[in-house]
Amino acid sequence: MGRPNVGKSTLFNALTRSRDALVHDEPGVTRDRNYGVCRLEPERPFVLVDTGGIAGVEEGLAGATARQSRAAAEEADLILFIVDGREGASALDDEILAWLRKADTQTFLVVNKIDGLDTQTALNEFARYGFKQVLAVSSSHKTGIDELLAQTLAAL
Ligand code: GDP
Ligand code: MG
Repeated sequence: MGRPNVGKSTLFNALTRSRDALVHDEPGVTRDRNYGVCRLEPERPFVLVDTGGIAGVEEGLAGATARQSRAAAEEADLILFIVDGREGASALDDEILAWLRKADTQTFLVVNKIDGLDTQTALNEFARYGFKQVLAVSSSHKTGIDELLAQTLAAL
């Protein structure tokens, strides 16, 4: 779950080791829900859902994409709320968080794109979100993925 362009599909690919999810520089390129299986821990496979993300628009295609994203979150056992460590917290992140708080599903905050950043500074930007479970990752550099996987498996 997250706004467009934070790296949801890149993380999906890192966890499913596939190129199934479209990764694109243009925000909002994944329109539908995309299912994959994470087998990084072969004994404990789980289904992962990539979403198109929430762009703060409720009309037209972007609105349909947001509804698909929320439907995916509603059926999930665990939500990974992905934010962009480079850009920091945005109004749209606040909006998505408000929706997530209404849903009664355990959620981890995943701060992505920490490559080349000071991790603690990147995390501090999101401290006010008050998450107990916070993971700092770089999906493109595959940093922090082992810890994310371990925490995810512990929670499922
Ligand atoms: P989505 O819209 O949330 O699915 O985002 P994408 O996975 O399509 O990624 C959006 C852009 O961010 C692409 O240009 C990715 O290459 C880039 N990106 C994704 N993860 C990382 C990361 O960990 N570090 C950096 N530097 N770029 C990333
Ligand atoms: Mg995507």
